[in-house]
Amino acid sequence: MRPTLIRHATLVDGRRDQDLRIVDGRIAEIGPGLAATEGAELIDARGWLLSAPFVDAHFHLDSTLSYGLPRVNRSGTLLEGIALWGELKPALTQQALVERALAYCDWAVARGLLAIRSHVDVCDDRLLAVEALLQVRETVKPWLDLQLVAFPQDGLLRSPTALANLRRALDRGVDVVGGIPHFERTMADGAESVRLLCELAAERGLRVDMHCDESDDPLSRHVETLAAQAHRLGLHGRVTGSHLTSMHGMDDYYVSKLLPLMAEAGLHAVANPLINITLQGRHDGYPRRRGMTRVPELMAAGVNVAFGHDCVMDPWYALGSGDMLEVAQMGLHVAQMTSQAQMRACFDAVTTNAARVLGLEHHGVEVGKAADLVRRGRVVARCAPAEAVLDLPGRPAAVDWTRQPGAGAPEAGR
Ligand SMILES: [Zn+2]
Repeated sequence: MRPTLIRHATLVDGRRDQDLRIVDGRIAEIGPGLAATEGAELIDARGWLLSAPFVDAHFHLDSTLSYGLPRVNRSGTLLEGIALWGELKPALTQQALVERALAYCDWAVARGLLAIRSHVDVCDDRLLAVEALLQVRETVKPWLDLQLVAFPQDGLLRSPTALANLRRALDRGVDVVGGIPHFERTMADGAESVRLLCELAAERGLRVDMHCDESDDPLSRHVETLAAQAHRLGLHGRVTGSHLTSMHGMDDYYVSKLLPLMAEAGLHAVANPLINITLQGRHDGYPRRRGMTRVPELMAAGVNVAFGHDCVMDPWYALGSGDMLEVAQMGLHVAQMTSQAQMRACFDAVTTNAARVLGLEHHGVEVGKAADLVRRGRVVARCAPAEAVLDLPGRPAAVDWTRQPGAGAPEAGR
């Protein structure tokens, strides 16, 4: 492969006018004023930000782009979304699932999103969605890392065939063990599902990622069990609690015990700001809860926190476009993370932190890492910077609102 030299880039840590040499799909050198080798492809970054790709730590590729099929979610609640997905499932075909998922992957790559962890519902005995997404994972492999989670949407214990189907999905090559303890019939069943699923993951040497406590009920405390099981089974750094919205409504004293437990177990947390700001708090009057988990407090406790997109145009969410900056933007606002360091932490939540959730060791802008700023050294998408053409007397004909004249230097350190 032809070597590539990217010139005049700004890096996420604030270093400006940096060049990157890419050889055989890896970053070989970073520094100012690197000499071009003969035959190298030159890309002028013109001072724009150069970053490792976006990573989405939580998505549902099997339902994406199905908005309005067979009808829209009238109440806007999580539970109606689950019911609606149940209505749609019998009508799904493998071909339609593949086509919608591939269409979304195209959107993702166009937006610099090159790694996605997608949950896949295993509660359909035909495992149609599993077969479809395994096919998609193979197709997109050259340009996008797709990791699949076996997700028992209707409840591991509540749905009679879920456990058997989940094992079948793992046998077929699905990567991660999923769960949904708050959707089981009782708190006790929820805790039992967490135990069974963590033991299954430990047996098979797999990671765990559960939809956990996606509820406004402050007594939904399955994350405590998840941390305890991860610790008991030695799954430190391999287990993720997704959503964790009940933490928003928990009392502070209980949370002061919970956060160190989560850190001790090496749990990752994934917040889904776009979805949970719209789904949660639907039963509240005013004041109304925001419903996102406690992001800055989790980070301060040493828990790795990523943001996920979760849904795009499906029974749970009518909007979205695969733009992880939109996700980070919502997370930043909902969590009030407005200092420079916190804004950078929100960027990390859709890049490096999310890569840690997926276990992507090649991710990052460092010598020796995969050159995925252009996917293994190859340019996979190009887009023009946003620009508007104006027709205003006495003003310039075009405006570039991405550069702020007189913007101060970034704060030192992180
Ligand atoms: Zn989800």
